[in-house]
Amino acid sequence: MTDYRPPIRDIRFVLSNLVDMEGLRAIGFPNAEPDLIDGALEEAGRLIAEVVAPLARTADKTGSVRNPDGSVTTPPGYRQAYRRFVEAGWPAISFPEEWGGGGLPFVVGLAVAEMLTSADMAFSLGPMLTYAADELLLLHGTEEQKATFLPHLISGEWSGTMLLTEAQAGSDVGALTAKAVPAGDGTYRITGTKIFVTWGEQDLTDNIVHVTLARVPGAPPGTKGISLFLIPKVLINDDGTLGPRNDLVCVSIEEKVGIHASPTCVLSFGDNDGAVGYLVGEEQQGMRLMFIMMNTARLHVGTQGVAVAERAYQQALAYALERRQGQAVGTAKGTSSLIIEHADVRRMLMLMRSQIEAMRGVMYKTAAAIDLAHSHPDEAVRQRAADFVAIMTPVCKLWGTETGVELTSLGIQVHGGMGYIEETGAPQCWRDARITPIYEGSNGIQAADLVARKLTIGNGAAALALLAEMDEVADQLNADEGLARIGFQLHEAGVHLLTHLMQNPNDALAGATPFAEMFGIVAGGWVHGLSALAVRRLDPEGKDAFLQAKIATARFYAEHVLPKVAGLVGTTTAGAETVFGVPVEAMQG
Ligand SMILES: Cc1cc2nc3c(=O)[nH]c(=O)nc-3n(C[C@H](O)[C@H](O)[C@H](O)COP(=O)(O)OP(=O)(O)OC[C@H]3O[C@@H](n4cnc5c(N)ncnc54)[C@H](O)[C@@H]3O)c2cc1C
Repeated sequence: MTDYRPPIRDIRFVLSNLVDMEGLRAIGFPNAEPDLIDGALEEAGRLIAEVVAPLARTADKTGSVRNPDGSVTTPPGYRQAYRRFVEAGWPAISFPEEWGGGGLPFVVGLAVAEMLTSADMAFSLGPMLTYAADELLLLHGTEEQKATFLPHLISGEWSGTMLLTEAQAGSDVGALTAKAVPAGDGTYRITGTKIFVTWGEQDLTDNIVHVTLARVPGAPPGTKGISLFLIPKVLINDDGTLGPRNDLVCVSIEEKVGIHASPTCVLSFGDNDGAVGYLVGEEQQGMRLMFIMMNTARLHVGTQGVAVAERAYQQALAYALERRQGQAVGTAKGTSSLIIEHADVRRMLMLMRSQIEAMRGVMYKTAAAIDLAHSHPDEAVRQRAADFVAIMTPVCKLWGTETGVELTSLGIQVHGGMGYIEETGAPQCWRDARITPIYEGSNGIQAADLVARKLTIGNGAAALALLAEMDEVADQLNADEGLARIGFQLHEAGVHLLTHLMQNPNDALAGATPFAEMFGIVAGGWVHGLSALAVRRLDPEGKDAFLQAKIATARFYAEHVLPKVAGLVGTTTAGAETVFGVPVEAMQG
């Protein structure tokens, strides 16, 4: 496996040209100075590349192991790497300074998360879920809960998890049956079994705070009756020191396709007197609160698609620059050419590069909108940003993860036979990426969310406003001879989206997944267009090779990726009839 090289210049390009960092600085992130951000990215990137990335291959082979007493041992080197990550303050970078954070916007935290995920996705999942728990507590914890948990969680000294899933309650979270009974002292006693708990047990932190959904007695069925609890693995004494173990245990960990080092646990609660849990918010508000965690986590998962594809791209590029096969067109007879000289290999690499850049731009723009939605003083701006986030979250999750799987598969293809051999690292990227379309709400659920709930915001006004904004960029591109082709494709794609926006809901659900993919591809064209326009301003004479490559990449995206949208229109608008055309009995032969 090749070394990981943090794509700092690309990340900086997005932060400087696609995100209004100055605007964010003005509304409550005074630390978001370009020099400070550059320094932070360089430092974080160095530690991640030098300390975390080299562990990934061995960690994948070793995996995390459950011991007979229910404890879990993580792969060699993880404890030291985690300690260094925490000591450097990276988990806290985008949290308020009053809680020990770095006071930077979420979008900068997402950039660090991208690099950590590229280095070792299994390792990154612990900090990712802890991040989501921090956010939930900041917004909805009581003062006492914040004081007890937040400093430890934000620093990374403790970790957080997210427990929704039970054997009978996967996508249908409302079917969960874990019980929470009031203990009479303000706390609850929790019993039940949760499955698929990411980083549910580990040996990196002294405590783990399980953010858990359960039902109180008499609660109505379905999602309405769900409440949300904090259940620490180790109870906390009144003086803040750690006390006895809570009544929960890791019963087993799963053997998985990828992310082997991430312990995916079955946790049993209340085998004795019931695990002590602390209610967050009010009883039966649990689902609404959990969505706060899930939305941030969904953007993180979309970004996992970018991150793992970036690692796969770096590996594929390095291989294409050393492997010689055949004679490339235009070279002397008998030449053994580098495979990067062959048009088809170059096409695959450009498919990877152009879609990674598109996804990174869209993910970071969505993260910056989360910052605006939380912090802008003007209510109207906050609302617009919140609408953008609402629409883009399922798009980022679905399109980012589907594309991540596709690109990591392409990374294997670039390697030829060696791509199928674990030593190259290419299969690990693909195996790791494969979970991303499934967890954090499967992509089928994301697509339905987009079509049934998000496009209808303001009777479609929010989605139409967003597409109009994208179309404006297409117009600007059309005015520039060298960029007009991008503008044309973007416009065409936008028109398709507009035309098919408000379909009959039943038919729309049948085409929801390709529709969400279309939306992502068009949004990717939009950020490529914005990038190309920025390069025209920054380097009008075309002297900077890095910047000019952005324009060439945008043109490639316009010609090789945006046209997919036209193909997706058919399936998006086909309706449900043929989807249900073969009866279940006939499907069984
Ligand atoms: C490695 C791993 C880590 C995980 N980590 C966590 C974690 O930390 N915390 C946690 O709570 N959970 C976690 N999960 C669980 C994960 O979120 C669920 O697996 C996921 O939500 C899907 O649920 P399910 O597996 O029960 O599939 P099902 O719900 O049974 O779905 C099966 C298929 O049916 C489709 N489907 C189901 N319902 C609908 C519908 N209404 N409309 C359209 N399609 C539908 C799905 O899209 C899917 O294709 C993890 C899972 C794995 C494998």
